[in-house]
Amino acid sequence: MKQIALYGKGGIGKSTTSANLSAALSDTGLDIMQIGCDPKHDSTRMLMHGTWIPTVLDLVRTRQESEISVSDVVHTGYNGIRCVEAGGPEPGIGCAGRGIIATFQLLERLGALYGDVILYDVLGDVVCGGFAMPMREGYAQEVYLVTSGDLMSLYAANNICKAIQRLSRRTRTTCLLGGVICNSANITDEKDLVATFARRIGSRLITFIPRDRIVRVAEVNRQTVIEYAPDSPQSDIYRSLAEAVYTNDMLTIPTPMETDELEDLALEYV
Ligand code: ADP
Ligand code: MG
Repeated sequence: MKQIALYGKGGIGKSTTSANLSAALSDTGLDIMQIGCDPKHDSTRMLMHGTWIPTVLDLVRTRQESEISVSDVVHTGYNGIRCVEAGGPEPGIGCAGRGIIATFQLLERLGALYGDVILYDVLGDVVCGGFAMPMREGYAQEVYLVTSGDLMSLYAANNICKAIQRLSRRTRTTCLLGGVICNSANITDEKDLVATFARRIGSRLITFIPRDRIVRVAEVNRQTVIEYAPDSPQSDIYRSLAEAVYTNDMLTIPTPMETDELEDLALEYV
């Protein structure tokens, strides 16, 4: 079983990329599970054809854990992909990372963590203990950074590198960086910028995903691009990402950049 995590800044395109990656992997015959680890809880929505599935945190808030079964938490979406949403706290109270911890405890107790690939879609703005949980506790063995050429998203990606590097020193877990996925924001020379960033942190640009209107068209039709427009060039990109991730054997401990170094790099491309 391969367990991978996509980390990145909020709004950068983690869930869109995750859902299309899961769909593309699943189309090759693999058994896939996707776990949304973002309080926004819309990671699996396109795989679920627009349905908001109940989050684990909502369930544990309203029921005894012993009364929760696999079918309450794990929902079957496109092509049999098993979908879970960790959820988050009610705004203003509680800890966002707790949803992730509660989710993993519950899924383990239910024996629901299985498949050829488990994909964790994780918010990377804050790498607090809760959000680092998939890396820290050895669930995610490979991390992929989703970023554009925008400085704030590179900054978030760099912070995640710091977490991976720190964890590699302190624990015996084997969480490594698998690569950088550039989800384009249509910035000039963006591919080159993100590829340079990837090299500087001791990794590589694994796929460049163009910004394409078809993503939004598929979204309003409540489907992934893979399902809605399987013959589109964008679907080819998601399939090549799936191939690159599934066969990836270049895993590294990243070397994060200094903040001023990162700013200088971004400045070169303005
Ligand atoms: P995140 O999960 O990182 O918060 P989302 O996947 O929800 O981000 O994406 C945010 C928005 O950006 C969505 O409305 C989505 O349709 C759009 N989007 C993401 N990737 C692309 C892309 N490659 N081309 C066009 N729109 C995209
Ligand atoms: Mg998301």
